[in-house]
Amino acid sequence: MARRFASRLSLVGASQTMAVKAEADRLRRAGREVIDFGPGEPDQPTPEPAKAAAVRAIGADFTHYTSAAGIHDLREALARHYAERSSQSIGADEVLVGAGGKSLLFAAMLALVNAGDEVVVVAPYWVSFPEQVRLAGGTPVFARTRAEDGFTIRAEAIEAALTPASVAVIVNSPSNPSGGILPPEEIARLVELCRDRDLWLISDETYEALVYDPADRASLLEFRDRLGGRLLFVSAFSKSWAMTGWRVGYAIGDRELIRAMLTVQSHDATHAASISQSAALAALERAADAPRQMLEIYRCRRDRMVEGLNRIAGIRCPVPRGAFYAFPDVRELAARTGLDSSRALSEALVRECAVATVPGEAFGMPGHLRLSYATSEALIDEGLARIARFAGA
Ligand code: PLP
Repeated sequence: MARRFASRLSLVGASQTMAVKAEADRLRRAGREVIDFGPGEPDQPTPEPAKAAAVRAIGADFTHYTSAAGIHDLREALARHYAERSSQSIGADEVLVGAGGKSLLFAAMLALVNAGDEVVVVAPYWVSFPEQVRLAGGTPVFARTRAEDGFTIRAEAIEAALTPASVAVIVNSPSNPSGGILPPEEIARLVELCRDRDLWLISDETYEALVYDPADRASLLEFRDRLGGRLLFVSAFSKSWAMTGWRVGYAIGDRELIRAMLTVQSHDATHAASISQSAALAALERAADAPRQMLEIYRCRRDRMVEGLNRIAGIRCPVPRGAFYAFPDVRELAARTGLDSSRALSEALVRECAVATVPGEAFGMPGHLRLSYATSEALIDEGLARIARFAGA
């Protein structure tokens, strides 16, 4: 008997980054040695203080429901941490802890977007932004960034995408997949724009700890007072502290907005796991240096990956300014190898040389591949050598 599913499912596709992971896993089970540039997660271990705190939490039977907004100590520690960094006042009740940044962004969409509303998304985009907008009944409208401009996020491009139906703008700096950033000089214009047009500004700063040049380090949180309650800041322990599996993210916004998102969350995940919240608090308080240490490791790998890619004929790769992804233009390589798209190239690379990448089609920018360099230098070298052989270099 044919099963009937809800019509909203026809609006979205399964995560293509997860599809690459499934293919890499299949090849591995079949005995192939896969070089996996697919994953969107750190290869570093979770810091020891976080692991120890989780073990202590289990031993102390801290294994029941917590407050739906997150444990008070963690909300307070996050409020303190970000108030200090942004020179803004932030109360613990303006912080919402959730089961990963993704879940909080989805709660925001459900709390803010009505049917027919438009949300501006900067492209290339993280795979879940447009899908979350669609699942909430809205329409994503794309503001492009350009490889020639280092994928810099420009207020002008966002302004050009606005219509009377726009209710929100989502920016993600540094960007997954491009590594582009919203530079300090663009922030003021974007803030004015959102204030003048009365738009929500959702700033996904999940990769905030991974910005390579200190001059590029600016957070929209520093402009919170100028946005008059329109800012929602979202981040997570996932990338900065190598804690993807623990599922702890957080959002900072005005009380009313946080309450609205909490209403959604209280009927969904309820809260992040109690044990994970204990681990996150320990990461913040006792492993404060871990993100900086990881950044230096990623910097060496970034340089190796980008230099190696640019040595391969038919590949052009700008230097990413943040996160841990290279996002090269591979149109020439695809054409030279008789393939008609970056998707076909990505499929050929995994099939013929067991190198997993994610095609730009997944991020709204065909002609490119995303390669994660959150992997060892030896694996980066081996993967690049295989791609170079494939390219006939
Ligand atoms: N935002 C961006 C741009 C991401 O790349 C990710 C994860 O890949 C997330 C949010 C969500 O992170 P998590 O839900 O693991 O905290």
